[in-house]
Amino acid sequence: MRIGVLAVQGDFIEHASVLRQLEAEALPVRLPQELDGLDGLIIPGGESTAISRLMLSYGLTQAIRDLARDGLPILGTCAGMILLAKRVHEPGMEPIGAMDIEVRRNAFGRQVDSFETDLAIPALGQEPFHAVFIRAPLVEGASPEVEILAKVDSGAGVAARQGKLVVSAFHPELTDDPRFHAYFLSIVGAG
Ligand code: GLN
Repeated sequence: MRIGVLAVQGDFIEHASVLRQLEAEALPVRLPQELDGLDGLIIPGGESTAISRLMLSYGLTQAIRDLARDGLPILGTCAGMILLAKRVHEPGMEPIGAMDIEVRRNAFGRQVDSFETDLAIPALGQEPFHAVFIRAPLVEGASPEVEILAKVDSGAGVAARQGKLVVSAFHPELTDDPRFHAYFLSIVGAG
């Protein structure tokens, strides 16, 4: 499987190494032509406003929007989740807007910018998933077509799927557990 990893800013190297561990090909994407022939795409964590600005100037925003509409499987983690959302509580940035969710950036407040917790994610099996949250966003609203894959104690969504789009507020690339990426690759493989 040929999986592109958006490599304009953020922790794309860590995603590429999980993909290689799962025997998928990981190809850095910085230009629209590097999207050609991919089976799937990952948009990593980082700073969503910076990524959004760079994507717009490289012509990637519209190209990825078109591919999402045509059914390319896309995984967005943390900033990537913000960029895939249709509605973001943050004026002045242009998300790709592919997934029918409403997202709040930096939703856990400044005091608790970062934390780790074990989450129940039934789609990954019985064993909890150790999730790393870094200045993470939250899913505040979702259309009925969106499946919430995981929630924090407050009941807010922190992972979701709509068709071939998957998002997480946490960083599955920063732990040794490859199940979240394997779940995404199973969607890629099914297509
Ligand atoms: N706080 C960042 C943003 O709003 C996301 C953080 C991350 O990707 N780890 O873009």
